[in-house]
Amino acid sequence: MDRREEIAANLAAVRERIAAAAKAAQRHPDEITLVAVTKTYPAADVLHLAALGVRDVGENRDQEAAPKAQEVRTAGVNVRWHFVGQRQRNKARSVASYADVVHSVDRVSLVAALGDAAAKAGRTLEILVQVNLDPAAQDAGEEQLRGGALPARVPEIAAAVAAHTALTLGGVMAVAPLGADPAAAFARLAVVADRLRADHPNATVVSAGMSDDLEPAIAHGATHVRVGSALLGKRALLG
Ligand SMILES: *Cc1c(COP(=O)(O)O)cnc(C)c1O
Repeated sequence: MDRREEIAANLAAVRERIAAAAKAAQRHPDEITLVAVTKTYPAADVLHLAALGVRDVGENRDQEAAPKAQEVRTAGVNVRWHFVGQRQRNKARSVASYADVVHSVDRVSLVAALGDAAAKAGRTLEILVQVNLDPAAQDAGEEQLRGGALPARVPEIAAAVAAHTALTLGGVMAVAPLGADPAAAFARLAVVADRLRADHPNATVVSAGMSDDLEPAIAHGATHVRVGSALLGKRALLG
């Protein structure tokens, strides 16, 4: 099987999982956007995905994403780039030059950095507030390793996003905490998302669910699932 066929088979399987999970939740599969996370894989794979109808692509490291986005653009292919990585404050200018959506904003200082960079580039970025769902972090009142703002901090970050002219507030994003029940975590995220929508009715995005937990995410209202290894294969390195 060549690479295109391999990705096509994986994509069909992922689309089937999304459809089955949507049906089980009495939702329409069209409500769920598949973001293909292509980190550690080459631009050629992005081109395969795009040829197979995938419009949304995710990356987590600017050093890798910036040249990849350039290569894809040079090939004349248009996709929406989703930046899902941590610690991008000193990379704000670069990220703002190619990203369409940033999923991992968990502090006000990052809002200003991305917003000012987007304004300088004459672009508008859609921002998702990353929420920390780790029960230990809630108890300690502290953000833990996997990133994300504590639910209590979300309104303040969202307000900063909404106030910046070069940013739009898309909604929330989360990664299920390691070792915890993903369904319980995504249920907590749904509560945070509901509260956010009460203040910001257009902030409808719930980015949750990856290769191993997209079903519970869709059961709890995910509008975007971020899928890497189930589409492209297991990554050699942790990324
Ligand atoms: C790598 C990554 C994904 C995709 O993970 P898979 O388990 O390969 O599907 C999703 N979200 C974020 C934030 C990631 O870094």
